[in-house]
Amino acid sequence: LNKIDELQEVLIAGSFERPTSTDCMDIVSPVDGKLIGTIPICASATVEHAAESAQEAQEEWRLTHYTERYELLQKAADLIEANKETFAKELTWEQGKPLGDSLIELEGCIGYFRGAAEDIKRLETGFLPIFDPKKRVITVRDPIGVIGVITPWNFPWDIPCFNIASILASGNSVILKPAEQTPLSGLRLIQCLQKAGFPKGTVSLVQGVGEVTGEAISSSNLIDGISFTGSTETGRAIARAGSSNLKRLCLELGGNGPMIILDDADLDIAVADVALSCFWNSGQVCNAGERILVQEKIHKEFLEKVLLEAKNHKLGNPFDEGVTMGPMNNEEVALKTDRHIENAKEKGAKILLGGKRASGFPTNLYFPPTVIDGVTTEMLLNKEETFGPVCPTITFEDMDDALRITESSKYGLQASVYTRSIKKAFYMAERIRTGTITVNEANNFWEGRLPWGGVRASGMGRVGGRYALEQYTEIKTIIFDLSKS
Ligand code: NAD
Repeated sequence: LNKIDELQEVLIAGSFERPTSTDCMDIVSPVDGKLIGTIPICASATVEHAAESAQEAQEEWRLTHYTERYELLQKAADLIEANKETFAKELTWEQGKPLGDSLIELEGCIGYFRGAAEDIKRLETGFLPIFDPKKRVITVRDPIGVIGVITPWNFPWDIPCFNIASILASGNSVILKPAEQTPLSGLRLIQCLQKAGFPKGTVSLVQGVGEVTGEAISSSNLIDGISFTGSTETGRAIARAGSSNLKRLCLELGGNGPMIILDDADLDIAVADVALSCFWNSGQVCNAGERILVQEKIHKEFLEKVLLEAKNHKLGNPFDEGVTMGPMNNEEVALKTDRHIENAKEKGAKILLGGKRASGFPTNLYFPPTVIDGVTTEMLLNKEETFGPVCPTITFEDMDDALRITESSKYGLQASVYTRSIKKAFYMAERIRTGTITVNEANNFWEGRLPWGGVRASGMGRVGGRYALEQYTEIKTIIFDLSKS
């Protein structure tokens, strides 16, 4: 793959351009350390220009018949489909995940556009009872307006598409700012949307770092809503900046998923799911298995089995067949993983596998599967989101003890419980405070049409299929008085 010159371009008011007089940033591949390209760091003036054109576009776009939007969304899906192999290679190059996983990610994106196109055709609204017999009431769903979409680097195709398909389907205009570590996927997506024929101004792309470009989006008074996926800390900053004009917020934030394995569980199923949830995408997944809670009685057997299973996860060049884990995406996330492991060691935990970066690769970002035993609630591995390929094991006595450990972290995205007892599964599922709970299924189980989102430090709002159409619209009530003509 060669350096991509187009990375310098942004899409504003319907045309791709190279912003002048902005700072720039080099983007380097985590796979081989080579330069992918240079992005502009768009400042407030560029963002405001995009927002003005997005607002202008709203006048017509919000009233566009859904059949027209349906056609455009399907065309976007066709274009992604036609280019998915190339896009997958570029995704692996800039993100680091295995090529097969990149292709699966692209397949999912095609589905989001086709799904949103279908959902908008079937969106039902209400006909409500009203006291006055001479009146009738209907409700319709209005788009929010201009929505800024700010996304992370762990799923650089999936997350923008997952949100943008529904945002456009429901008649909003969109301004995308992809993560600065993975700007190429965002560029390719927006190129597809432009080619599909979305009207001028309905789709814009800006590039840059969070503190400049992201901040300009969240504080712009021309932008009506934010769809943010990223860390809890950034979510808080966006909520503060977005309060200037009371933006509608959808905040999909960090997680610290507990996988709770009760002593009556099918251990083979649990162990395979644990390894998948901890090591897939090198653990850089919001609903990864971040804390593995194992009941005392099965602790020893669990460790034996998980160590064997971990060895099936192969670290290497993500373009090579058979490799299941590529490099981590960036130094910052790798450093956090180092720090959490160091903290656990200092406090008495035992590294059973991995534990430090692998040598002999073109970059210093290759991190092997790591299994740690003896983790306790005061360690960073338990309290914070690690976001690395780590399986930290914590033992518990009974279900209430497992609930206490679960609650010792502020996050509430996804959890999983392994048991053969429906009664125990419900006991846990009804008490754990997360947006999603899986029973006898991997913590990182994901199906894009189900309601998705967190509670507490994991955010607010629900997206996924028709739930995203609700998230990105507002109910408008229309009252008819039949007695007056
Ligand atoms: P991040 O918060 O550092 O960055 C995410 C995006 O926000 C980037 O585009 C960044 O440029 C931008 N940003 C940073 N500072 C900003 C600011 N002050 N104002 C506006 N924008 C700003 O997160 P990350 O490291 O890219 O991603 C990892 C995090 O994302 C993890 O915590 C992970 O759990 C979370 N995540 C959550 C979900 C979910 O659905 N809940 C999905 C994927 C990732």
